[in-house]
Amino acid sequence: MKKKLVFATNNAHKLEEIRAILGAKVEVLSLADINCHDDIPETADTLAGNALQKARYVYERYGMDCFADDTGLEVTALGGRPGVHTARYACPDRNDPEANTRKLLQELEGKNDRSAQFKTVIALIEKGEEHLFEGIVEGFITTEKRGTQGFGYDPVFSPEETGQTFAELGPDVKNRISHRARAVKKLYDYLADGC
Ligand code: IMP
Repeated sequence: MKKKLVFATNNAHKLEEIRAILGAKVEVLSLADINCHDDIPETADTLAGNALQKARYVYERYGMDCFADDTGLEVTALGGRPGVHTARYACPDRNDPEANTRKLLQELEGKNDRSAQFKTVIALIEKGEEHLFEGIVEGFITTEKRGTQGFGYDPVFSPEETGQTFAELGPDVKNRISHRARAVKKLYDYLADGC
C-alpha cells in the first residue's frame, strides 16, 4: 500500500503540481480530503518557521504524517526583503500580485544590483520527526514586466542565464528549474530512499 501524506495547502494548483511529482510513491491528501477547512496560521518570521507551523498544525490535530511549504523572494538590494512577507509585500491584508510587482520595481529604481532569489522551504513531519527541504533559484529582477504566463512575481523574475522571465519561459521550463521544483525533488529523493 502507498504511504499517505497530507499536503497542508488549500492551493489546488500546488496540489496538482505535487501529485504529478510524488504520485508514484505517495498518496498525497489535501486538507479537504481530511476534512480540514481551517485557515491555518502562518505567523512565524521565517519561511522554515511558517512551513513547520502549518505542518505541525495538521500533525497535532489529525495525527497524520504531513508536509507544508512556504516561499519567499529575497532581493539583495533590499536586504533580503520581501522574504517571509512576499505574498503581502504591498498590502498587509491581502496578496495583490499587481501591486507587489509595481512596488518591487519602484523600490529597485536606479539600483544597479538587481540580484534576487526565490526560496521554498518544505517541512515534513513523519512519525513525529521533522525534516526540512530547501530549494533556491537565483536570478535577477527585470526593469519592467515581461511575459504573460505563471503567477505572482513571474513577470519580473528572470532566473540566471535564461535571459527570460518565468512568465516568458512558461510552465515546462519553470517547473524543471524553479525553487519549488528543487525543494520537491529533495522531498521526493528522501521519500524514495525510504520506500
Ligand atoms: P507561497 O508560500 O507558495 O504561498 O508563496 C508566497 C508568495 O510568493 C506567493 O503569494 C507569490 O506572491 C510568491 N511566489 C511564490 N512562488 C512563486 C513563483 O513561482 N513565481 C512567482 N511568485 C511566487
